Amino acid sequence: MPTCYETMDDAALARETERLQADVDALAAQGLTLDMARGKPSPAQVDLSRPVLDVLTSESSLTDDGVDAANYGAPDGLPSARRLMAEVLEVDPAHVIVAGSSSLNLMYDLVGHAFTRGVRGATPWSELGEVKFLCPAPGYDRHFAVTEHFGVTNVPVPMTETGPDMDLVERLVETDPTVKGIWCVPKYQNPTGVTFSDETVRRFAGLRPAAEDFRIYWDNAYVVHGLYDQDDELLNIFDVLAETGREDLVYEFASTSKVTFPGSGIACVAASPKDLDDIRLSSNIQRVCSDKITQLMHVRYFSGREAVVDHMALMAEVLRPKFELVEQKLTDGLAGLDVATWTNPRGGYFVSFDGPDGSAKRIVAMCREVGVTLTGAGATWPYGDDPRDSNIRIAPSYPTLEELGQALDVLVACTKLVAGQLAAE
Ligand code: PLP
Repeated sequence: MPTCYETMDDAALARETERLQADVDALAAQGLTLDMARGKPSPAQVDLSRPVLDVLTSESSLTDDGVDAANYGAPDGLPSARRLMAEVLEVDPAHVIVAGSSSLNLMYDLVGHAFTRGVRGATPWSELGEVKFLCPAPGYDRHFAVTEHFGVTNVPVPMTETGPDMDLVERLVETDPTVKGIWCVPKYQNPTGVTFSDETVRRFAGLRPAAEDFRIYWDNAYVVHGLYDQDDELLNIFDVLAETGREDLVYEFASTSKVTFPGSGIACVAASPKDLDDIRLSSNIQRVCSDKITQLMHVRYFSGREAVVDHMALMAEVLRPKFELVEQKLTDGLAGLDVATWTNPRGGYFVSFDGPDGSAKRIVAMCREVGVTLTGAGATWPYGDDPRDSNIRIAPSYPTLEELGQALDVLVACTKLVAGQLAAE
């Protein structure tokens, strides 16, 4: 579909780009400094979690289910913290290890485990020639950074409206033994906001990998992060795997980073009992145990899944108007021009925006000149290499509504000008 600018004759296009340039210049004259780059909760959201800090005092009992949180011990995490995260993920608490404050850290550790020790006795990846990971794109840049850091070859797989392109995933996973893993954010995916369909989840569970040490890195970072009462439903992949008795396929991750305090909450991995035993071979060397005081604070504050869901409903009150403003500003500014498409997620932290081919780097650079920082163009693709140079990740959570509105006006104006310039070239 040609953009509206591509259908104009030369004289009309010249007049239009001059007008669009004047709009951008007027915005630049305002001297804005706005940041729409990273998916951080706003201060108003984080403040909602301050009461978590009040649940422990020097007088509090620090014992949980007979475990002393104030001392070494319970390397799999406090029993009640394992129960809480198991309830959140709807898995068996015995299949969960709660450790540390960052799920990304746990993912990194598991890739490291595969490299140094090997998955379940398989040859360590460090001794193999080439190791590949599939990277649904657009996707989460920090996932891709982990495998890139270890020297893994990141292979992009296109995202669709129902999840990654499963025909391609099946072909690559089932025929190529060097494919050892895939990064997935199955609910409110970063950045599209897509929740994987039941069929996609079933096809993941039904994979017959060519490599015995292939694992799906199922990062359920946005499991309780719906914006509306009607939450997206994600099929529980471990339930589907249990039907087929093939549960040694998935590592599932989550954390409270966007529930309470980013980087200062609790994180977990869920896996089959045999995979957990394998994970312990490395995790129990890495540390005696992890921070159980923070775990205790969380379980004293959140009595169970319902308490977490209620807390997230308060977060959604703050976040929902921002997502709705994105949808409104983009529709008002760009609908009908055929210059951009974007997602309208019902949860998570991001909106995925696509301009014309060859536009993303220019739009991001122009926005920066006007005073708005966006996530770098290409960040949503492995190696920062977006083949169409069209995708931009919008992170609406951190700015105030007023700042967000201004930043979106800049994005709209720059997108139109770049689309006009591209049509003229
Ligand atoms: N996974 C996804 C999909 C994310 O978007 C983020 C943060 O933006 C993280 C993981 C980081 O989580 P943590 O703070 O638990 O390491």
